[in-house]
Amino acid sequence: MEKPGIVSTLHVDEVSSAHPAQPDPRTTHQLAEKYRAILKELGENPAREGLLKTPERIAKAMQFLTHGYALDPAAILRSAMFKEDYRQMVIVRDIEIYSLCEHHLLPFFGKAHVAYIPDGRIVGLSKIPRVVDAFARRLQVQERLTVEIRNCIQDTLQPLGVAVVIEAQHMCMVMRGIQKQHSVATTSAFTGEFEHEKTRAEFIRLISKNGD
Ligand SMILES: [Zn+2]
Repeated sequence: MEKPGIVSTLHVDEVSSAHPAQPDPRTTHQLAEKYRAILKELGENPAREGLLKTPERIAKAMQFLTHGYALDPAAILRSAMFKEDYRQMVIVRDIEIYSLCEHHLLPFFGKAHVAYIPDGRIVGLSKIPRVVDAFARRLQVQERLTVEIRNCIQDTLQPLGVAVVIEAQHMCMVMRGIQKQHSVATTSAFTGEFEHEKTRAEFIRLISKNGD
């Protein structure tokens, strides 16, 4: 290992993002009570064996799936910004996203592609997926998620431009039969240099390269 310092920094980073705040016991209890009532209302018997611990499980899962509210995406970026003269496009593509649509509380999931062109400052690459996750782990619509990621990077890092593209499948459409099973919704948001046709086309070309 030539650069043990860098390796260990990344390691710490992965550990902290893999273990978000533990579920709060009081919140878990309160939510579980309500989910027990919901199960009953749906015609189920919350006292049967298979469902006994289900309300607590949902309560914990929902806290995990919305833990982004407790995160400060701008602070995540600020924690690893460095002066650097690099002025080419930086792209982090194929970032997995898992979010919940705010209209049905059903999952939507897919991939985000994020790019920026530095203006004297770069950010640690691992921070970009963490910013995406901090916004995705909330109740969302795909359009707002896309714009929030763009605005956070633009306002915090102040680069020459930011581009965000998200491709996702929405369970509220797929499962309810509104959409063909494999259709994907694509949203995009751009600032600065990416408003120019040529730069944007280059970005689209680079994220379209077959990497799968
Ligand atoms: Zn929905």
